[in-house]
Amino acid sequence: MRWENLTGEGEHGRAADAALFGADSVTTRTFDTPEFRGITFHEVRARSVLNRVPGASRMPFEWTVNPYRGCTHACVYCFARKTHSYLDLDTGLGFDTQIVVKVNAPEVLRRQLASRRWQGEHVAMGTNVDCYQRAEGRYQLMPGIIAALTEHANPFSILTKGTLILRDLDLLVRAAQVTDVGISVSVGFLDAELWRTVEPGTPAPERRLDVVRTLGEHGLGCGVLMAPVIPFLSDHPAQLRATVRAIAAAGATSVTPLTLHLRPGAREWFTAWLGRHHPHLVRRYERLYAEGAYAPKWYQRRITRQVHELAEEYGIGPTRAGLARRISPAEPPAVAEPTQLTLI
Ligand code: SF4
Repeated sequence: MRWENLTGEGEHGRAADAALFGADSVTTRTFDTPEFRGITFHEVRARSVLNRVPGASRMPFEWTVNPYRGCTHACVYCFARKTHSYLDLDTGLGFDTQIVVKVNAPEVLRRQLASRRWQGEHVAMGTNVDCYQRAEGRYQLMPGIIAALTEHANPFSILTKGTLILRDLDLLVRAAQVTDVGISVSVGFLDAELWRTVEPGTPAPERRLDVVRTLGEHGLGCGVLMAPVIPFLSDHPAQLRATVRAIAAAGATSVTPLTLHLRPGAREWFTAWLGRHHPHLVRRYERLYAEGAYAPKWYQRRITRQVHELAEEYGIGPTRAGLARRISPAEPPAVAEPTQLTLI
């Protein structure tokens, strides 16, 4: 394993900062409990946890903290899979089961935030892998991280699929009293069968929406990243409607759709999954993603427009943040026939 190469963060590629770990500082552990069976944890002591996002990145933030690498949530499409290859780890099953844990992340962050060179910029978390994945239940790094940010009144944001974030509700409420705290939960669709196969390690979409609701009830406005919208599997208008409606009912402050993208690492793993579970779609995917990692612009625009129209219809927006909406149960079914895309 190339620990000296553990420098970059997720979708931003490899950062240019110095190596974070010494090869002699890795402790490998397994836990014989049902939730961690088959998972190997590589505990490392990081030299730095504040990672600067490369300037060329399309991300709307400059600094990230990621206490974990790899993710037991095991989403088949996960764009961060590629980053495991930087460590000579497998980007398929290895990404789901070989988890790097920066066990000293809270203390290193506290030290870095106190540095005179640190300007108090926004820190984004959950942008590479999920900081509230199952491992966090055991390692409990986030309470210390949130506490450090709160002590320095340093603005931050968290993106997660993990219901475990509610464990830290009190800490988040306290943080929001002294600094800007942005929280987003990722819910791309409601289809239970699709969820079980494509996001097998995550809490169910409904449980994630419960998180949105609970955060709102405690005064923490929460947006939903509707990601990914999966072509031919979760993009039918009836499915989009059911999802946006549920997001609105949970009291989300915003909904941002994101169409599935398939970069190297994720693409191979997802395509193999597609061949096993939906072989009739393989050719259609080859055509839709013929140009590269992204679906065509016209497709992305169509999804965005549909979701924005639905968001408008259901009244999602900051003016009603945190208020669970009373929406009639008489709605179209969540599961419908696959969309017919005539242009591909
Ligand atoms: S929860 Fe996020 S980081 Fe984890 S596997 Fe899924 S997409 Fe990747």
